[in-house]
Amino acid sequence: MDSKKSLYLPDYIKAISPYQAGKPIEELAREFDIDIKNIVKLASNENPLGVSRRVTNVIEKYSSGIFRYPDSNGFNLKDILAKKYNVPFESITLGNGSNDILEMISMTFLDRNSSAIYSEYSFAVYKLATQARGARHIIVPSVNYGNNLDAMFNSIEPDTRLIFIANPNNPTGTFVDKEKIINFLDNVWEKYGKSVLVILDEAYSEYLDDDLYFDSFSLIKHYPNLIVCRTFSKAYGLAGLRVGFSVADKDITDFLNRIRQPFNVNSLAQIAAIASLEDDEFLKKSRLLNKVEKKKIYKAFEILGLEYIKSYGNFVLVRVGDARSINYSLLRLGVIVRPVDSYDLPEWLRVTIGLPEDNDFFIKALSEILK
Ligand SMILES: *Cc1c(COP(=O)(O)O)cnc(C)c1O
Repeated sequence: MDSKKSLYLPDYIKAISPYQAGKPIEELAREFDIDIKNIVKLASNENPLGVSRRVTNVIEKYSSGIFRYPDSNGFNLKDILAKKYNVPFESITLGNGSNDILEMISMTFLDRNSSAIYSEYSFAVYKLATQARGARHIIVPSVNYGNNLDAMFNSIEPDTRLIFIANPNNPTGTFVDKEKIINFLDNVWEKYGKSVLVILDEAYSEYLDDDLYFDSFSLIKHYPNLIVCRTFSKAYGLAGLRVGFSVADKDITDFLNRIRQPFNVNSLAQIAAIASLEDDEFLKKSRLLNKVEKKKIYKAFEILGLEYIKSYGNFVLVRVGDARSINYSLLRLGVIVRPVDSYDLPEWLRVTIGLPEDNDFFIKALSEILK
């Protein structure tokens, strides 16, 4: 075709490969002709307990109100978050999932003359959000499959604007403790000030044991270059509604909100998030289930002689060898887990901690395959 008439794509857009999501249950049912009831999905780090009754109740109650636009400022949700986490209202940004926040951050601070830093084996969205702006990425080798903060600090270039850190990390489940994070923030702030922003992506922090959890929101006061992201998709069980938020310095927040789509968080998501924050019992149950079942899965891997990475989230990365073939065998038995070859981990599978019976089903299937 006449090149004047063909699709024009910037090179950096051409370079993007699509995000690979966990396979939906319905898709597997169609492809392998398996009854949905016999399928177990342990692929997207969703909460196996589902969602709090309080949430389904408010959604039912308010659903007839969806003809109205949502509150574009998300006042009620931000108000509750501000009180719960003891942060200024003006420091909160709401997102259509925290993925939306990561996109807003890259849109606000990256351009074709800048770079972003993230670790090898870190969340796929960092790469996507960086590529979509035409910015350069600097991928730093991991240490024991986790973020190597010293190496990340040493990788900062004059054009570096952002450093993404998932803590706990997905897909590997590793965690960097408070002391190391603070030391890193001190170093970056001292040498680069506001010119290099650090994004602490804490999608799994609700799953941390009390002795490891730290209040990173309180660090915003000391580090005006810090952005902390959280989500309602994981422990709160609202993945399908899409709500996340960030806390950052007011100036940063102001610019994020200029980029933000005015109605990015829908009305049901806003009320659901509020209701979920009121159900501590549900969160407690989710944490406990995760802790107990994770140990069970570790033990099964040990019995099978499989290497795994100790995880601080609601999933475990396990080395199975030929992951592509083992994944296929699992699918045939009705088990959906997450291959991570796109993360350069072709021998590994990521398994979300599910309900006890789902985990048993997975362990039995895997044992049979490896026999
Ligand atoms: C799941 C996840 C997110 C975002 O999920 P949303 O559903 O968009 O809130 C962000 N970061 C990490 C590391 C995740 O694993």
